[in-house]
Amino acid sequence: MNIQAVEIVREAKAAHAFAGCRLCGSRLRHTLVDLGMSPPCENFLRADQLDQMEAYYPLNVLVCDTCYLVQLKEYMSPESIFSEYAYFSSYSASWVAHAKAYCEAMAKRLDLGGHSLAVELASNDGYLLQHFLPLGVPVLGVEPAANVARAAIEKGVPTRVDFFGVRLARQMVAEGLRADLITGNNVLAQVPDLNDFVAGMKILLKPEGVVTLEFPHIERLMAENQFDTIYHEHFSYFSLLTINLMAARHGLRLIDVEELPTHGGSLRVYLTHENSSRPVGERVGRLLDLEKRHGLTDMATYASFGHKAQRAKHDLLAFLIAAKNEGKKVCGYGAPGKGNTLLNYCAIGTDFLDFTVDRNPYKHGRFTPGMHIPIRPVEAIDHAKPDYILILPWNLKAEIVEQMHHVSAWNAKFVVPIPFVTVIDPSELPR
Ligand SMILES: [Zn+2]
Repeated sequence: MNIQAVEIVREAKAAHAFAGCRLCGSRLRHTLVDLGMSPPCENFLRADQLDQMEAYYPLNVLVCDTCYLVQLKEYMSPESIFSEYAYFSSYSASWVAHAKAYCEAMAKRLDLGGHSLAVELASNDGYLLQHFLPLGVPVLGVEPAANVARAAIEKGVPTRVDFFGVRLARQMVAEGLRADLITGNNVLAQVPDLNDFVAGMKILLKPEGVVTLEFPHIERLMAENQFDTIYHEHFSYFSLLTINLMAARHGLRLIDVEELPTHGGSLRVYLTHENSSRPVGERVGRLLDLEKRHGLTDMATYASFGHKAQRAKHDLLAFLIAAKNEGKKVCGYGAPGKGNTLLNYCAIGTDFLDFTVDRNPYKHGRFTPGMHIPIRPVEAIDHAKPDYILILPWNLKAEIVEQMHHVSAWNAKFVVPIPFVTVIDPSELPR
C-alpha cells in the first residue's frame, strides 16, 4: 500500500473503532501501533481444537490527543475474561514477596490498625491482603472470578465475588464500609468503564484515605519497545499525565508516585480526596515534567512507536530466516501472553520454532493461540538440543539464562527479541 492508502485505512480504523476515548470521550484520531489481527493471548488450544475456527480481533492501539490515554477497544467482554480466571497470583513467589513488602510499608505509612479497613480491587487469590492479617488490619477483597475468590476465602481473606464500580461502592457504604486504603494492582488496564471504576473508589474512600494503583508505565513500554505487552485483555495503558487528569476528573488528587521494576517498568501512584490534608510529594511534579520532556504530550512521539515495533519484527524475522537457511534448530522458552502477541504479529509458527517449553504444567500438550506452536515441559530442550532458544518472557531473561546455563554444553545460544534482537552466548557469561 502507498502512504496515502495506509493513512486512509488508519483513519477508517480509528473512526470505526470507538465512539470516543474511554476516559475523556474525545474523538480518537491517532494510532500508536497497529499489530494486526490476533487471537486472545490466553486461549491455549488442546490438540482436538486445532482444526476449529479461532476468534481473531484487531490489536489496533489508539491514543487520545486530549488525555493521552493509550487504548484498545474492548473486543472481549470482561465476563468472558474474568469469570473463570486461570491466573493465580500466588503462583509467583516474587510477586507475593512484592505484595508483603507493600502491606508492611502501607500499614506503617498510613498507621493502619484494628480500626482500619484495607480493600483490594481485583484481589485475586488473596496473595496481597493475606499479609495485612498478621498486622491486625481488617481487609476486604473484591474479585470477579469466582474460582480465585474461593481460594482467597479459604486463606481467611473475606472476598466479594463482583465487579467494582459505583453500584458496588454505594452498596458497601450503605453497609457501613469505608476504606482507609484501596489497592488496585494491575487492574486499571482491564477496566472497561474507567470512569465508573474511579468514581466508585471516590465513594468508598474515607475522607483521609489513600488509593494506590500499580500499572505498567507507558513511557517504559515505548522506550523499551515492549509492544508485545499489548494484548486484548489490557484495554488501557497509562502515563502519569493521564493518571493526573483522571484523578482531577473525579475529585481526587495525585499525591505521590514511585517507579517500580515490575512488568518491565511500572508506576505506583497514590491518590487522595482533593481536599485531603496529605501533602503532595515532589516526585509527582518531577515525573510529570520528565514525561513532557520525553514527548508524551506530543502525538508525533506516539506515531513514531509503530516504526520501532516494525523494526523489531524485521530484525527478528531476518535473524530466524538466516538461522533456518543455515539449517539451525530453533525452539522457544516460555509461553506467556506477551509471547503470543509477538508470535502472531511476526507470523512465527512451526516453520521457525519446533516447539516452546513452559514451567506451568497446565500448558503442556497444548498449543499457542494462532500460531499453534506445541508447548512441552522444559526438559524437551535437553532432548532436542536446539542451536537457538528464543526467550519469550524477556523480563525473566537473566533468571532463564542462569537456570538453563547447561545448554552451553552443545553450544546453544539464547535469543532475546525485545527491544531488538540480541544473542546471548551462555558460555561467555561468568558462572
Ligand atoms: Zn481522552
